[in-house]
Amino acid sequence: MVDTKANCDRHGEQELAIACIHVCRSLDSRDDVGFYWDPDSNGARHDAWCHACEQWSLANPDESPEVWMKVTEFQFLCVRCWDEAKARYTQPKS
Ligand SMILES: [Zn+2]
Ligand SMILES: [Zn+2]
Repeated sequence: MVDTKANCDRHGEQELAIACIHVCRSLDSRDDVGFYWDPDSNGARHDAWCHACEQWSLANPDESPEVWMKVTEFQFLCVRCWDEAKARYTQPKS
């Protein structure tokens, strides 16, 4: 196993999750980028990505995983940050 601990500025030492770079950036920018995840992925949390990446994958269903990785630029983030991103997008809009 690789080292699966993140040292998050806000949450300290946490397990690692994976999300596309746009979701990671939105944690700081607070942009509304959307939040999708792969329920079949392994790890402490599911791999997650934004609306733009979701649209890309729908438009390019036959592309290789290598191209998908370039589009998403998956980054590690701590699981608490992942949870925050998910919570932001799954809250009912008032
Ligand atoms: Zn994205
Ligand atoms: Zn964090």
